[in-house]
Amino acid sequence: ATPTAILVGTSIGAEKGLLIKGGDILEKVHKLNTVVFDKTGTLTSGKPRVTDCVVPEQSDIEESYIMQLAAAAESGTCHPLALAIGQEAQRLELTIPSAQDCYTEAGLGVSALVTGKRVLLGNGDWLKLQQITISDDWEAKAQALSDAGKTVVYIAVDGVIAGLIAVTDTLRADAKETVERLQKMGLRVIILTGDRLEVANAIATQLEINFDQIVAGIRPEGKASAIANLQAQGYRVAMVGDGINDAPALAQADVGISLHGSTDVAMETAGIVLMRSRLLDAVAAIQLSRATFNKVR
Ligand code: ADP
Ligand code: MG
Repeated sequence: ATPTAILVGTSIGAEKGLLIKGGDILEKVHKLNTVVFDKTGTLTSGKPRVTDCVVPEQSDIEESYIMQLAAAAESGTCHPLALAIGQEAQRLELTIPSAQDCYTEAGLGVSALVTGKRVLLGNGDWLKLQQITISDDWEAKAQALSDAGKTVVYIAVDGVIAGLIAVTDTLRADAKETVERLQKMGLRVIILTGDRLEVANAIATQLEINFDQIVAGIRPEGKASAIANLQAQGYRVAMVGDGINDAPALAQADVGISLHGSTDVAMETAGIVLMRSRLLDAVAAIQLSRATFNKVR
């Protein structure tokens, strides 16, 4: 393609709401053969809501107490899970105690001191890292919720599991069509998530899509390595993400794609920003590049 054709390509893109940051990026797009999607906030809306709060059997721990501690521990975080927990506490009109000594471990969970108790909130790996035992009973409960496509967060109070909270997120309306069309165009489509494999599998089932690969349980720093692994196998990879725990992966990919309204870091890192916040526009970007570089297949 001539420089003029490339310039025309990027400006046609701009008219269609595709912010393509340069002709070199447009050129990389037609060479892609793999598209990796982040799950939370990308295939899903990223606005999860709490569906379940499970407390220990035969105990006097109340759900409202668990929600209070959880909302307190999450009060300083902006992870979609934290927002869901905060909203649920608000809906239940709970008073939220203040939290001290808070810290967040990306892709694992949070820890805080609430009413003098050490509260941990996060996935199984986070609890295990803090030497907390997850009984078979709790694991079975978490498994059942994950199989239903819900994301599970354990809560431990002073070293003992005191409950779990499950959240669910709605799929983006155009997620199914987007993946179907990419696969029809001959691209491999992969889910990459820090969540459990069961949840990713449930999403695939809900979408009625046979993903070419599902990579689950990946820590944020592992997401970039997962992309590098694909590249080492010879794949040309686009990563579509929202920047929450996946900015390094967006940077590692041959082409990073983010939706307008994602985190600032995602929109800065990505080579393409979908200004209309529609996943389907990722398909349009690939079609445009193929047309520009005469690679309509
Ligand atoms: P995803 O890849 O689906 O966007 P993340 O990498 O952000 O997921 O998080 C992976 C898992 O780590 C979550 O499913 C959750 O169990 C746990 N986690 C991450 N952040 C938090 C948080 N702020 N509070 C509780 N749990 C968290
Ligand atoms: Mg995400």
